[in-house]
Amino acid sequence: MKSANGLIAFTLLTSAFAPALSPAAAQTSVARAPFGKTPDGQPVDVYTLKDKVLTVKIITWGAHVIDIEAPDRNGKTGDIVLGYSSMDAPNSSYLADHKTYMGSVVGRYGNRIAHAEFTLDGKTYHLSANDHGNTLHGGITGFDWKNWSGAKIPAGVELTLVSPDGDMGFPGTLTAHVRYTLEGNKLKIAYTATTDKPTVINLTNHSYFNLAGGGQILDHVLMVDADRYTPTDALSIPTGELAPVAGTPFDFKTPTAIGARIHDNFEQLKLAKGYDHNFVLNGPHELSHAAIVVTDPKSGRTLTIYTTEPGVQFYTGNFLDGTFTGNLGKEEQYDGFCLETQHYPDSPNEPKFPTTTLNPGQTYRTTTIFQFTAK
Ligand code: BGC
Repeated sequence: MKSANGLIAFTLLTSAFAPALSPAAAQTSVARAPFGKTPDGQPVDVYTLKDKVLTVKIITWGAHVIDIEAPDRNGKTGDIVLGYSSMDAPNSSYLADHKTYMGSVVGRYGNRIAHAEFTLDGKTYHLSANDHGNTLHGGITGFDWKNWSGAKIPAGVELTLVSPDGDMGFPGTLTAHVRYTLEGNKLKIAYTATTDKPTVINLTNHSYFNLAGGGQILDHVLMVDADRYTPTDALSIPTGELAPVAGTPFDFKTPTAIGARIHDNFEQLKLAKGYDHNFVLNGPHELSHAAIVVTDPKSGRTLTIYTTEPGVQFYTGNFLDGTFTGNLGKEEQYDGFCLETQHYPDSPNEPKFPTTTLNPGQTYRTTTIFQFTAK
């Protein structure tokens, strides 16, 4: 009853003051509240987006998705992403966990850049090395570790970050915007960015999903529309090869349980302690194409992903080790999976991979939609 009232009030308001809103936008309420403080005392806000199907919470710190409430096949809603409800509680907060990138937007370059360096237009840039001499997710204080500025927009929130020239070693002042909006059963994430010098960019969301709302995700059934993936070395740097998935545990073209082959005697799985690999999406890389589908047989929840990106990092939470406890309980190995839509890891050092260079005058633009259904 309460939410029905809230919905009516919001609809009246929007129709009176913003006649241009789409019907979907008019059905989504957006509320802002204080969440906590950054290490240097700046306020961190939480934005709650709510429509008839989903409730999604996003904080300005690291542009993290902290909560997605979605219905199961019986209409019962539950949280289906790992996350915390505090900024600073010991072992259970965004400031305690500087390791998992739990639900954040990772950047300026999501995933790895080998040897923490790359060369652009003849100049070599040295980056923050935070992963065995390589750069992971933009360096030690990447975009996940910055407080973005938030603003309500129709059906969602826009988060903005200005990353200065030289931030973590990357060239150019980069202005990035991430727009999270809700449309019925879809959470849409639209990324844009511009730069004042040539640079590289690869933004994605690092949510750990658990469609059952807890426990391991090994019985979730996954389909990835990819004929190839990018094998890696022991430090998760791509070898440069685009290897066929056919005949390997990486073939998810036919829906298969995530855990069905995860312990197979297959070198790539052993090196990474599970799946932690970029899949080369077949495409078309358009929002009309379902590139990835994951179903939890127990709850009946299904996540379908549409993206304009050419790749996706499928990561099975191999390095979750129980150090942190979040909203879905103690975070142990295989308790969540990430599907990070992206350009391929280490592209700045792999000329054969699709380019991640952004030049002044260009606008970086990628969009990913997470759709939640249940049956
Ligand atoms: C990487 C993993 C890494 C994890 C951090 C993933 O995107 O591929 O190797 O451990 O992020 O939580």
